[in-house]
Amino acid sequence: MDAQVSFLDQLFAKGVLHDSGVDGLYARSGEFEDVIARFEKFALTYGQDEISEAMVFPPGMTMQDFETSGYMKNFPQLAGTVHAFCGNDHDHMGLLQCMAAGDDWSKDQKPTQVALTPAACYPLYPILSRRGALPAEGAYVALQSYCFRHEPSKDPARMQMFRQREYVRVGSAEQTMDFRETWKQRGSDMMERLQLPHNVDVANDPFFGRAGKIMASGQREQELKFEMLVPITSEEKPTACMSFNYHMDNFGKAWNIRQADGTPAHTACVGFGLERLALALFRHHGFDTSKWPEGVRATLWG
Ligand code: ATP
Ligand code: ZN
Ligand code: MG
Repeated sequence: MDAQVSFLDQLFAKGVLHDSGVDGLYARSGEFEDVIARFEKFALTYGQDEISEAMVFPPGMTMQDFETSGYMKNFPQLAGTVHAFCGNDHDHMGLLQCMAAGDDWSKDQKPTQVALTPAACYPLYPILSRRGALPAEGAYVALQSYCFRHEPSKDPARMQMFRQREYVRVGSAEQTMDFRETWKQRGSDMMERLQLPHNVDVANDPFFGRAGKIMASGQREQELKFEMLVPITSEEKPTACMSFNYHMDNFGKAWNIRQADGTPAHTACVGFGLERLALALFRHHGFDTSKWPEGVRATLWG
């Protein structure tokens, strides 16, 4: 691959992604989407009988649930909220004049009840909470959502709008820890079969500000987050294509999700960055999917 031309420019030139003029906001080609669909089907072949139900979420969640998640405490820099015009005819005239003059028209937009979902599993917890105490076997949900994070970048693997496929385990500490270990193994197995160079390492989330530094080192010390790293745009700084997270009983407490015995539920989730996985495949196996290695073709095309 020509080192002079960035991977992002190659993706544009090959029509895999289409530029919008805003970093991290791209249209995807049919072929790119086909790879994602095939990856998802492949991922769903693991532990099928363990899944208790499946859900797909829209890209937004309720403002109330967003507030409950604590996202603004930990990651205010990444959040996005939906605002809308709520005025009358007179306000509309003002809006159009403001736009015509090239002034800031967005200052009069009003907050709605919708926030953009920052992490695919957040909308699940309030649903589980409303059902009352969990059964003894807990819950095991397969889900998918578009996510938004305000982190514009020239790195094609760092988008502002992207999808996560997640498996979420809710139950006892033991159930959730076992789940995460199993998925670390499965994640490595998946990467082998996709013939992608990879390694798993302990990680932390980008907690905001000075207090955030302490949160991040605590998260690392307790090994609450692991990432599946694959080189995409850089060999030295490989990209997290999967993450394996244990939240202890933090979400159980925040959303009031109870185990059968009434104590707060523990939660763990494994997240696959669908665009990142597709990009890793294009990066390592080339832009022509018909020429991908036989083993990879067999895994995804069957
Ligand atoms: P990073 O350290 O690269 O910012 P992350 O720790 O924020 O990743 P998670 O919050 O664990 O990632 O999100 C779960 C998965 O979603 C990641 O493993 C990754 O594959 C994907 N993901 C996260 N942020 C982005 C993004 N900006 N663009 C595309 N995919 C992303
Ligand atoms: Zn999650
Ligand atoms: Mg991040």
